[in-house]
Amino acid sequence: MKIKSCRTPAAFFHDIHEECGVFGVYNHPEAANLTYLGLYALQHRGQEGAGICSSDGKHLHIEKSMGLVADIFNEKRLKRLPGSIAIGHNRYSTAGGGGLKNVQPLLANYALGSIAIAHNGNLVNAEQRKRELEAEGAIFQSTSDSEVILHLIARARSENPYERIAEAVRNVSGAFSLLFLRENELIAVRDAFGVRPLSIGKVDDGYVVASETCAFDLIGAEYVRDVEPGEMVIINEQGLHSHKALHSPRRAFCVFEFIYFARPDSYLFNHTCVNTMRKEMGRQLARESMVDADVVIPVPDSGVPAAIGFSETSRIPFDFGLIRNHYIGRTFIEPKQSIRHFGVKIKLNPVRDLLQGKRVVVVDDSIVRGTTSKKIVKMIREVGGAKEVHMRICSPPTVGPCFYGIDTPTRQELIASSHMTEEIRKYITANSLAYLSLGGLKSIIPHSGDYCTACFDNKYPITFPKDSKEQLELVFP
Ligand code: AMP
Repeated sequence: MKIKSCRTPAAFFHDIHEECGVFGVYNHPEAANLTYLGLYALQHRGQEGAGICSSDGKHLHIEKSMGLVADIFNEKRLKRLPGSIAIGHNRYSTAGGGGLKNVQPLLANYALGSIAIAHNGNLVNAEQRKRELEAEGAIFQSTSDSEVILHLIARARSENPYERIAEAVRNVSGAFSLLFLRENELIAVRDAFGVRPLSIGKVDDGYVVASETCAFDLIGAEYVRDVEPGEMVIINEQGLHSHKALHSPRRAFCVFEFIYFARPDSYLFNHTCVNTMRKEMGRQLARESMVDADVVIPVPDSGVPAAIGFSETSRIPFDFGLIRNHYIGRTFIEPKQSIRHFGVKIKLNPVRDLLQGKRVVVVDDSIVRGTTSKKIVKMIREVGGAKEVHMRICSPPTVGPCFYGIDTPTRQELIASSHMTEEIRKYITANSLAYLSLGGLKSIIPHSGDYCTACFDNKYPITFPKDSKEQLELVFP
């Protein structure tokens, strides 16, 4: 079976994804250094570029570049970020690029002083708002959604800075976990549905806010609570204050954060452990689709906790049958002469001694286009010498693209949107293939009704403007 990947007109809009990590600190003598460490812990959320903006109480200072956190910042650069308040951002690499101009935080001056923004998530009406703003004379410096929010703040009429932010976020729709830095305060806002995570922690006499709690562990901060959906949290000299910025009709936490995106040592969405969730998904998958086999191996790293869970429940021994090279940089040069399956080979290599002649269960978190699974199955069979390869996927079939910040291709490119499991099995050449059922997934996650599962059931909790790229893709898939 040949699976074609085609790009629709809608796909051309589909170039900016805001799948990122944010970190902020208030009232700490080493604000920039702490932000650097926080971003380092959140590096998995974005590797295209990173930045930090600090405040010395009077002025905001910013440093940002393309690349990885540890390569961007050195002592000299961090010294250029004085003050006890700071925010930082890791940007996810995107197909459409955007380069340095899209690296955040974005800093602007407006009627009430200076303001910097760091944004995780994706707005669904950014195009429309941008067109309206441009028609009124606004000039944009980036192609990022986040700049729209800055313009809306600058144009809001209120003299009250918080009212301005509230007015701006009421004018946009989509997923956003936002951090704002002003001269004397840190402000955190989460969209009405709480799609992307955002947690508050305490460190010494200060506060920290981060996309994931793994960033708190590194700096010795203690988890306090999540920023609630629709909430604006203001942290300044008067302490921490909560305001309701947006009416929250329901929650729609992103289930894919648990499946793939977040680090397993993080606690998300009201402090639920990612590792525990992934392990339970593996257990449930084993209950749903047992198979006679000799060894269970994960596709590292995201498949590891689920494979352990699968092994525990199925009582099939667990082992690391695929070894991952952790040092593949963005600058890696592929040889001109084509080497078969190079893309996967450079990342993963099978342990022959472990797999030779065995019936192998391979656990991965998801199948998107199907190309990775196909190459992995081939590699395990041809290089590893496995007798049978049984693919087990720890999520339901991915049938819908994400418009709220997870980097997924268009619907046509999602293999499960147009092919049955048996067809996909044939395509990836596995002896068997099974996905976790949606019911099974929901049975594991506490308060599963509070989650967005659009990628698995096409039920999009946040509606799209009629002429938006999202709506186009849904109507003309
Ligand atoms: P594919 O070859 O397109 O089927 O990709 C499947 C692989 O991509 C799986 O091994 C996943 O771990 C990984 N994956 C799933 N979602 C994402 C994402 N949003 N960004 C990067 N990798 C992903």
